[in-house]
Formats: sequence, structure tokens, C-alpha cells
Amino acid sequence: MYLFRQSSLVLLFLSCVISPAATSPAWSSDAALQTYPMQALAPTVAAILAVPAPKQAEAPPIDPVVKDLRGSRKVAILGIDAFGAAIWNKMHAKTPYLNSLVLKNNRAQLRSVLPSVTCVNFGCMITGGSQETTGIKTFDTQLACEDLCSVLRAHGMKTGGFGIKDWTGDRLLGRYADFSVQDKTDDLEVMAGLMKVVAEKKPEFVIVQYGETDKVFHAHGPSSREAEEACARADAWLAKIVPWLRAGGYAVIITADHGQHESTTKDGKTRGSHGSASDLDCLVPLVWLNSLDQRTSAP
Ligand SMILES: [Zn+2]
Repeated sequence: MYLFRQSSLVLLFLSCVISPAATSPAWSSDAALQTYPMQALAPTVAAILAVPAPKQAEAPPIDPVVKDLRGSRKVAILGIDAFGAAIWNKMHAKTPYLNSLVLKNNRAQLRSVLPSVTCVNFGCMITGGSQETTGIKTFDTQLACEDLCSVLRAHGMKTGGFGIKDWTGDRLLGRYADFSVQDKTDDLEVMAGLMKVVAEKKPEFVIVQYGETDKVFHAHGPSSREAEEACARADAWLAKIVPWLRAGGYAVIITADHGQHESTTKDGKTRGSHGSASDLDCLVPLVWLNSLDQRTSAP
């Protein structure tokens, strides 16, 4: 223990003397980041919570995440809609909180399944299946394969799925989970509602769709001033919910369902869109953190 403390101090000291550029992996050396398939997320959560992966899952668990978070009794996935890896890179000045969560070895990327749209990828997050396996076409589709919420239920655990009214977090995640919120009109309301439900019911697995980013990127383009402001609001949302969840015993996984690319309308207006197989649409961040009571080693 003494040795461990001492090496932590040394690391802390080193991180103070090395220049910020060398210690800011949040937006540097992207090429070096490991990329895992979106299908790996559900098996990863299953492995952390020590239950079998959903039967039709198409990828193995992500080893570094399982290694770091194993022993956690609760896991939360926060999906920032459309917050692609390239968008985080571009907007890093607007996301100081998220940047601060990135340590040396708790960041990678996921590749969205196709088409790179919301219901297909949140459907993948709770099953480990591509569209071919889940059969998902809209957020109201009945999944054609086993889902993580059912697996956890069969092992005596509870789940929560949250999002804005009539968005995927509500209509798909809320439908498969044991607990959800009703009639929330924005992300702050969803957060307040889920905090109430989570504090009361203590579900072992929580998944949340943060929605505003996608809406703003579509309307103004993912590089716009409006998009910058939306990223700053998403960062402020994370700054509230992440410490709260971690203090409540949750390991937290931050990611996105897909990215966006800039598009132009016939009359020359800048917009954002997604759905393609491009890296802009498909590469999304993955950051993982232990709960505060499990934080015996980094992250
Ligand atoms: Zn969208």
C-alpha cells in the first residue's frame, strides 16, 4: 500500500512537469487509440457485472475496460447523442470537464454499427448486436435478440433506461429497462428525474441518452458556434451527473451512439447529418471510470 501511494505521488508529480500537450490525450494522438466495435459494449457491461453476455452479442468484452471496472456492482452508460470522436477533438476547448476525466489509460474509441443512427446504436449498446441481429428499424421496434436488461433481470438485477420524451432513451431504452422517466422535455429534466429514480431504486445498470447535441448539430452543423455551445452544455451536464453517479457506487462509461458530418442544403445552409459508414459518422469516444468507492487504482 505504501509503495502504491508513493508511486501515485510520483505520477502526480510527473504529470505536473510534463507539458500539457504531452498529457492531454483527450485530443492528441488519436491514431494511437484502440477502436472497438459498438457490439463490444453490452458484453463489456455483462462481464463487469459478472453475468453472461446477451446470447447474440457479436463481439467479445473490451478487456481493458473489464479489467479496470471489474468488481463494480453498478454500471452506467452515458451516451451523448452524435458526439463523435472528431467532434470532441474539434470542440475540446468546450469540454474541460470531460477532458479532465481522461487519464493515461481510460480512453478508446467505438465504431458505430450501420446505419450510424441513434436507435440502431443504442439498440446495439443493450444487445451487442448489429441491425441484422436486433432487427431494429425505429425506437419502437421489438428487438429480435436477447437484451442486457433481460439478462440482468434473470440474475436478480435491476436496470434503468432514460431519455427525453419520445426519443430513443425513452421509447427504446425506457421500454426494455425496469425503470424510466416520463414526459421529460429536455436533458436537464431527464437528469433530475433519473437522479430521483436511481437514488430510490438503485438499479445495477443505467443507460442514458443525452439528446440535445444531435438536435443542434443537425440544425446548425457540427462545427457551428451553436454546436460549440451545445458541447459546453453537454460537458456541464456530465460535470453534474458523473460525480453523482460515481459517488453512488456506479462505474461510468461515457460514449456516443454515432457522430455527424457537415452537410449543405440546396439553398446553401450548413447542416449536420449522419447514417453513413464514414469515420466522422462512426467513430465515437469511449471513456471509462471507476465508482469512487472502487477507485483503488487508476482510473
Ligand atoms: Zn441525428
